[in-house]
Amino acid sequence: MTISIHGLAVSRGVAIGRAVLVASSPMDVAHYFIQPHEVPEEIERLRTGRNAVIDELYRLQESITHMGPKEAPHELCALLDVHLMLLQDVELISGVKGWIVDRLYNAEWALTTQLEVICRQFDEMEDAYFRERKADMEQIVERVLRAMRGVASPIVVPTARSGRRQSQQDLLLGDTVDVPLVLVAQDLSPADMLHFKQSVFAGFVTDVGGKTSHTAIVARSMDIPAVVGARTCSQLVRQDDWIIVDGDAGVVIIDPSPIILAEYGFKKRQLELERGRLSRLRHTPAVTLDGEKVQLLANIEMPEDAQSALQAGALGVGLFRSEFLFMGRRGQLPDEEEQFQAYKRAVEGMQGLPVTIRTVDVGADKPLDHGTHEAAHLNPALGLRAIRWSLADPAMFLTQLRAILRAAAFGQVHLLVPMLAHASEIHQTLGHIAQARATLDKRGQAYGAVQIGAMIEIPAAALTLKLFLKHFDFLSIGTNDLIQYTLAIDRADESVAHLYDPLHPAVLQLVAATIAECRSQGKGVSVCGEMAGDVGLTRLLLGMGLRSFSMHPAQILAVKQEVLRADTTRLAPWAQGVLQAENPALAMAAR
Ligand code: PEP
Ligand code: MG
Repeated sequence: MTISIHGLAVSRGVAIGRAVLVASSPMDVAHYFIQPHEVPEEIERLRTGRNAVIDELYRLQESITHMGPKEAPHELCALLDVHLMLLQDVELISGVKGWIVDRLYNAEWALTTQLEVICRQFDEMEDAYFRERKADMEQIVERVLRAMRGVASPIVVPTARSGRRQSQQDLLLGDTVDVPLVLVAQDLSPADMLHFKQSVFAGFVTDVGGKTSHTAIVARSMDIPAVVGARTCSQLVRQDDWIIVDGDAGVVIIDPSPIILAEYGFKKRQLELERGRLSRLRHTPAVTLDGEKVQLLANIEMPEDAQSALQAGALGVGLFRSEFLFMGRRGQLPDEEEQFQAYKRAVEGMQGLPVTIRTVDVGADKPLDHGTHEAAHLNPALGLRAIRWSLADPAMFLTQLRAILRAAAFGQVHLLVPMLAHASEIHQTLGHIAQARATLDKRGQAYGAVQIGAMIEIPAAALTLKLFLKHFDFLSIGTNDLIQYTLAIDRADESVAHLYDPLHPAVLQLVAATIAECRSQGKGVSVCGEMAGDVGLTRLLLGMGLRSFSMHPAQILAVKQEVLRADTTRLAPWAQGVLQAENPALAMAAR
């Protein structure tokens, strides 16, 4: 039966493929693909883990046979029997092996995937006794996972996929071997997303998340169709179901009928054609009809993204979110050398174009590790995030600053500081930069000159701009957080996503005033939040006087097309009108 679910459209395009459901179990396991030759080793890891638990249970059983009925009630013995029986359950074992062999999932992922399949079967059972066995199954899987812990493998991209069952849709798509995969999860941390960055997924769907949640941002940076905030999707979809992700409309269609499938197949081809057309603009300078030059820069998460930035014709990197180097490392932060090498790779990758490296911005919806304490804070977005986190750990911060300064010896580097609001933070930050330079001098180590910039992403910063203009070489407006903090809307919370409004007059006034003040002082200003890559807002930002936009490489050509069609002499008075309007969205539509 075809089911449609509406969520938030966060990354454009259409993906059609088989669902890969990442278990929403509380068990925090790594998800990665193995190479075909690693299958026997993975099955062996699983067998070792399972055997360890069987031994553990037998030992437990033996020890309680010597106890009296008081210490070891009959129910406990019976429970251990049930657990031993479940551990040897044919469906569990063959199912898990199937996910490893057919899908090349790592053992932990295969185990939690099969757990999910079995739990659903238990849920559907009439008999309450069997329904209750679900908890037992969860417990034994958790035991096996615990037994296997510490046996991590690197994340690698599968080279081949096989073993999928054929269906009507397979035949319709005419592609029975290499069917695209669509990842469906209750939630994905930004670090998870990064793991999937080099993977094979053609689309992403999560139950939770807002339009500018970091998970959505990474999906967009990968240029893969994605829908977040799809609420119940991970409960409704089953492993291997056919699924369509419409990243433009924010719609997910599970088990589509052949007619719907054909319709979306057509839409997908149209979008690919449109992309092909846009790619011709790659080398065209971004200049408006009235001759205003516009700088289109790229937002990147990893040094390797420099390649896609260049391919999209970016004139530099306007935002390198360095925190992605720090995530998912089980607390082992990258040292100076590792960071230096990463920044240097990005700088060299951009072949002489400027690279704006933002100091680490972890916290809130970007925890260092999934499930670590940051997420448990009452108001993580208002907590120890970004520069606050850096200033709380000077040794870590100085390490990063030295690595950035050293990378600046290899090309143009701009150093950008996130989430500043207080004069004291500005002074401390500048003091740390001076200290990092002094240490490098003492060591006799080479470093380069950097321009130092601040992000304007807290309303307090936008309202005290003079202070920032006095101390920094350039400013970059982080509209994602500026909207979040101006409107008091958690950017990651889908339940208030309808209130997250870039066109709220208060947001527009802060953005416009920042641009105007920077221009009047001759200071460089750009927008690096998601507003910069939204083609629906390009003209408005141009009309406000913005001439530097930083966005995901995938958005650059579409924004360039808007720039090429724009006439800023006409857009400036129009933008003033929009700014004065009670309902700017309506005023824009009336144009
Ligand atoms: C922003 O807040 O607009 C921004 C670019 O930073 P981030 O999305 O990483 O918080
Ligand atoms: Mg921000």
